[in-house]
Formats: sequence, C-alpha cells, structure tokens
Amino acid sequence: MSGSTYLVAIGSNRRGHHGAPRDEVAAAVQALPGLVAAAPIITSAPVGPSIRQFANTAALIHTPLEPADLLGELKSIERSFGRRRGQRWGARVIDLDIILWSGGAVMGRGLTIPHPVFRTRDFVLAPLLHLVPRWRDPVTGRTIAQLHARLTRRRSVPSRVVAGAGP
Ligand code: ADP
Ligand code: MG
Repeated sequence: MSGSTYLVAIGSNRRGHHGAPRDEVAAAVQALPGLVAAAPIITSAPVGPSIRQFANTAALIHTPLEPADLLGELKSIERSFGRRRGQRWGARVIDLDIILWSGGAVMGRGLTIPHPVFRTRDFVLAPLLHLVPRWRDPVTGRTIAQLHARLTRRRSVPSRVVAGAGP
C-alpha cells in the first residue's frame, strides 16, 4: 500500500468555537487527513490548582504526506481551531502531535518522531493502547503495551512501597 501510516495525538484544555475541550478534540479528529480510526476521548483534570478540563485522544491516519508536510497540515488545523502562537505550555484549543509513523525514526529541524516524551505520558499511551498495542517504538524496541505497562507500574511502585513499610 502506498503512503504512510501515522499516529497523531490530539489534546485540548481550552474552549474554542466547537465548544468544550472534548468537543474540540472530536472536531479535530474529523479534520485529520486520511482518518482510519480514533480512540475514545479521555478527559482528565490536570494536576495542580487549575480547574481546566483536559481532553485527549489519538488517531491512526493513512496519507501520502511526508512527515514535514503532515506537520504543516496539523499546524494549519491548529490555526483554524484558533490556536495562537506562543501557547506552548499554557491553555490551548488544540494540540496535534505526530507520535509515531510507519517510516521509523525522524530527527529533523522542528520535527522529531517518535515524539520525544510520549513514553512518559499516560494521556498519550492510553489512547495508543486502544489503537496499536503491538506497534513497536523504534527507539526503545518496546511495544505500546509494554511502554504503557511500564509507565503504570512505575507509578504504582511508590504506593506499594509505602503501603508495605510498617513502623
Ligand atoms: P508541545 O506539543 O510540545 O506542547 P507545541 O505544540 O507548541 O508544543 O510544539 C512545538 C513545536 O514542536 C512545533 O512547532 C513543532 O515544530 C515541533 N515538533 C517537533 N516534533 C514534533 C512532533 N513529533 N509532532 C508535533 N510537533 C513537533
Ligand atoms: Mg504540539
């Protein structure tokens, strides 16, 4: 089959013209080129004092676009959803990140695939687990299921240690 397969992570933590963050995420999924499948949308409250709702999902797409051209498309979708430049860490109507693709690893100017920090983000790994549990990360050699298990296991270790430590 010609073209490439990509996994795109979609997130929002700010209302936009489609509505609440989960409405923005649902609309962004429909705006993606070559949509094949999307995971259920998860919503979560952020850590810290903010009252913002976060909504996240991931989509599998198939397209003839090269990575740099797909990134350009994703940025143009972000702009059309009202995302402004400079909203890197703060509230954003939509964030579209390329997590993995069928072509392996890419390290270019302004584009790194696999996405450098996706292995530590449950809100990225959990949707990916729905779509491609056996997809292998070309950098670590681990599958999505393995990366997800490692992340959730690591998080539960301290509480087990605390629970097991008697006086
Ligand atoms: P973040 O997604 O890290 O919170 P931004 O969405 O503002 O922050 O992205 C900042 C820049 O990261 C983008 O302009 C893009 O050029 C670059 N970038 C590098 N690798 C990727 C990737 N795999 N997917 C999306 N953007 C990427
Ligand atoms: Mg981004």
